[in-house]
Amino acid sequence: MISFEEAFKIVMSAAHETETEIISFSESAGRILAEDIFSDMDMPPFTRSAVDGYACHKKDINNELEVIEVIAAGQVPLKNAGENQCAKIMTGAIVPEGYDIVFMVEDSEKLDSGRIRYTGKDSKINISFRAEDIRKGDIILHSRKLIKPQDIAVMASAGHINVLVKKMPRIAVISTGDELVEPSVTPGISQIRNSNAYQLLSQVSRAGAIGRYYGIAPDIETVTLDMIQNAINENDITILTGGVSMGDFDFVPTVLKRAGVRILFDRVNVQPGKPTTFGVHPKGVVFGLPGNPVSSFIQFETLVRPFIYRMMNFDWKPLELKMPMAVRYQRKSSVRMGWIPVKFTGDSEVTPLEFHGSGHISALPYADGIISLEAGKETVEKGEIVIVRPI
Ligand code: AMP
Ligand code: MG
Repeated sequence: MISFEEAFKIVMSAAHETETEIISFSESAGRILAEDIFSDMDMPPFTRSAVDGYACHKKDINNELEVIEVIAAGQVPLKNAGENQCAKIMTGAIVPEGYDIVFMVEDSEKLDSGRIRYTGKDSKINISFRAEDIRKGDIILHSRKLIKPQDIAVMASAGHINVLVKKMPRIAVISTGDELVEPSVTPGISQIRNSNAYQLLSQVSRAGAIGRYYGIAPDIETVTLDMIQNAINENDITILTGGVSMGDFDFVPTVLKRAGVRILFDRVNVQPGKPTTFGVHPKGVVFGLPGNPVSSFIQFETLVRPFIYRMMNFDWKPLELKMPMAVRYQRKSSVRMGWIPVKFTGDSEVTPLEFHGSGHISALPYADGIISLEAGKETVEKGEIVIVRPI
């Protein structure tokens, strides 16, 4: 049986990059940027006021000032100020050349004479200078990043309205098992609802890929084979859940081989998720995830999600927080490396969730993260630092 690290390496090296496409910048949030973006202008493009106030010469600030102009945002100033003169100016408006300070309206008083007096102390300059943030031609966004709303603002400000992104991998999700019924159905005796497929489909879309549901494959070899072949032909990744353990009807591995999939591993020394299977086919890759919803969730997060990102050439590393344990924790068995769901409690500590095994589906909704414990590590002391991956 291989270790999780080995499995991770095998999976990652099987990734083929998706192609690129051009889309509207306004629809690009959540996608992976596939080009460097340059600024087509200085930012700010002109020296502007950061506040509503009065622009003047710093040396005059304690004198009574004559207002010679009112400058609105979007307007070009017309006058040059002389001694003891000022311009009333709005946030975002051009500061006329020569002025070196803008004091805030709140720090001013209008005298009967119509002149203005500064009433504050130690005014900040309140001027944003041309190009102080970015120069024309600078790279403002680097390729291989996840596009966030903040990036959309940067693209907008640079007029970058068409953006090159990676195509989203297409992912098939197939559930297996005669005991499964769809969520809208009331399960008969011996049946359970198919929760995995829908959990996986939402994990897929959260990871920025396109999921497509192929339904429940019954525990009949020929039908399963048909579904798997269709899924492989139509997608970059096929995810199966269930049917990979050692039961009499767990024939997913056999069917995969018949479909022309070369299995690279079918057991990983990890808990939960030991029967996780991975194979390659000329048309795409296949993950066989355990049927248990907690195992399937964790194997997706730790193997499939990084694989999806690798396909999109996303420069990604899992966020790993170092946090102390709120309690002492003892594993029942430490033969395998363990992923343990935890929640954030008290003063930035983590507490393992009560967790009865990988079918204990209601443990996950309140998990803030998972921690990994290496094989052989049986106990974690209260206060010991563990590495938490938020989920
Ligand atoms: P298997 O891997 O097929 O042996 O399934 C392991 C366990 O997970 C069994 O208790 C199954 O009933 C359960 N299971 C399998 N597939 C699903 C699914 N799609 N949704 C919820 N539970 C499942
Ligand atoms: Mg099954």
